[in-house]
Amino acid sequence: MIEANNPQRRSFIEIPEGSDFPIQNLPFGIFSVGDDEQRAGVALGEKVIDLSALFELGYLTSVDENVFSYPMLNPFIAMGNATTRAVRNELALLFDAENPKLREQKSDLEKVLFNQADVTMHLPVEIGDYTDFYSSKEHATNVGTMFRDPNNALLPNWLHLPVGYHGRASSIIPSGIPVRRPKGQSLPAEAENPVFGPSKLMDFELEMAFISHQGKDLGERISISEAEDYIFGMVIFNDWSARDLQKWEYVPLGPFLAKNFASSISPWIVTLDALEPYRVDGPVQEPTPLPYLQFEGKRSFDINLEAYITPENSVASKVCHSNFKFMYWNMAQQLAHHTINGCNINAGDFFASGTISGPTPDSYGSMLELAWKGTKPLKLDDGSERKFIQDHDTVTMKAYCDNGSVRMGFGEVSSKVLPAT
Ligand code: CA
Repeated sequence: MIEANNPQRRSFIEIPEGSDFPIQNLPFGIFSVGDDEQRAGVALGEKVIDLSALFELGYLTSVDENVFSYPMLNPFIAMGNATTRAVRNELALLFDAENPKLREQKSDLEKVLFNQADVTMHLPVEIGDYTDFYSSKEHATNVGTMFRDPNNALLPNWLHLPVGYHGRASSIIPSGIPVRRPKGQSLPAEAENPVFGPSKLMDFELEMAFISHQGKDLGERISISEAEDYIFGMVIFNDWSARDLQKWEYVPLGPFLAKNFASSISPWIVTLDALEPYRVDGPVQEPTPLPYLQFEGKRSFDINLEAYITPENSVASKVCHSNFKFMYWNMAQQLAHHTINGCNINAGDFFASGTISGPTPDSYGSMLELAWKGTKPLKLDDGSERKFIQDHDTVTMKAYCDNGSVRMGFGEVSSKVLPAT
């Protein structure tokens, strides 16, 4: 067992009941306080542990230099999964209720602990490259049914490889930053020519993304058995989508301006190590994939996913409850497929799952599916209806794991939609 995952451990830091950040989680992020410089932190209960300060005070010995003082996590992530594990283990022991080493140093504790309510969270990594997969069979089937042909909803390649496309890294933004409704071209129903204007069908996509460690050299591949060693951790990923723009532009090269105006992420990266106790089997894959995509053991994770819509000056309505385990293609398969041609990956690259829809209508991960292309409007708790996302709506996504022994989560990604300019 990974030392930091010990379910019996308690911290001397108070952890509120139901917190996403018990001592078994220890997710990494980048934060700042006031006008201070951005640096690396770890969430514990309602606190942020300042890793840079902790290193300078001599408490972190599993790294030789202060890789936590940078405004992004890339230098730390590039050190690989053995270092990630060592730092998490060291933090777990340092903040253990039974360990007096840091607990009794009140002046040091004041230097390394901040209230989450008092800090600003930033993009945790400098994202070099971003890939978006399309790995939920239910989502691909629903979209294929609506956009193309109900009798051939899945294209012939779908059951043989994890379909994906290269997205835009520059417009991935942290939770809390408002998203402007995009303008673009669309083809109205029955019309012969496209029109230009604000998207009328703005949507969210409920996804998770994994962040990679440093990969191999160009030309080399990462096999499926070693793939998870190259995964640092995961965040919640809202891949904002403009369905009317998408429908008109996506043939033949796939998504473009309907997707690249913004993708919002939760700020804390939960490590793959922390997710270890939540491994489950994924869906049965039939037909059997080609050998380079065949795997052993449990490669999926039981992560509950929720999406909420909050109209302006109103209450939040839960519109979806899905689970990461519904994904047909797992992360190891995605990474093995991504590098099978010799494509290289770098520390801090992003790989999104694609919309994660489950088997039931309340588990669909987008408004397109939940309101079935606008034909089944959703009733919100304040009595209003939604077919898609309206201006001034806030979309919030949450993710958590609970195996009956330890509950932990990812925090949230929450962003408001502003009118087009
Ligand atoms: Ca997507």
